Amino acid sequence: MPKLTSSETPTSSETRTPSEAQPATQAPTASQAINLILLGPPGAGKGTQARALAESLGLRHLSTGELFRQHMQKQTPLGVQARVYYDKGEYVPDHLVIAIVKEELSRFHFEKGIVLDGFPRTVAQAEALDETLAELGQQIKAAIMIDSDTEEIVERAQGRRICPEGHTYHTVKNPPSVDGRCDVDGLPLRQRRDDRPETVRKRIETYHNRTKPLLTFYAERHLLKSVDGTGPIAGVTENIESVLREIGAR
Ligand SMILES: [Zn+2]
Repeated sequence: MPKLTSSETPTSSETRTPSEAQPATQAPTASQAINLILLGPPGAGKGTQARALAESLGLRHLSTGELFRQHMQKQTPLGVQARVYYDKGEYVPDHLVIAIVKEELSRFHFEKGIVLDGFPRTVAQAEALDETLAELGQQIKAAIMIDSDTEEIVERAQGRRICPEGHTYHTVKNPPSVDGRCDVDGLPLRQRRDDRPETVRKRIETYHNRTKPLLTFYAERHLLKSVDGTGPIAGVTENIESVLREIGAR
């Protein structure tokens, strides 16, 4: 995996010279929008980082998980189809994911750009995304991989406790004042089955196996950037921002 990130360094400096030689061939409409993809295993904090980027750069945060929930809630034809897979705990097939994202993007005005969280997950989705963006005169500026330490994610999940109302605690980092009770409503706290170490490890492993081809896809296009995702949230945000400065996105 480290090989993927190092491969893009020479090319980014390489591209500067030829583009100066033929500025006329550059489509003037190639917009200045910053379209980003955030990649990283579940628990790496993609959602949190996507929200932070959306806030600081004025980007639209597009979370496919959120999008699906909206479609299912409104019972749109796509939402009804997606529900079948959700209820079975299966992955929503590519064609359905693509249709939902495509519809959303076609209605979107690209001024500052978007940050995609949870999409694409497969090469088929990535190709469809490229195609859709190209139709809209847009392109991906970077695919940022939040490189996280599995054990750190496991530890974070292991200490997580939630109350039936959704208030979240951490046994070490953010404990309730009364052990096992929610500060807000006094309801009993519990650990989600999903947060157990073996479940978390399995989920991360599955993610890495599934997304390997996707990382290759973006590495080959010199769009893959890897950032250190360990440590506090603010530090990770800073790591992402320095990548964005490096690619001239801010
Ligand atoms: Zn509560």
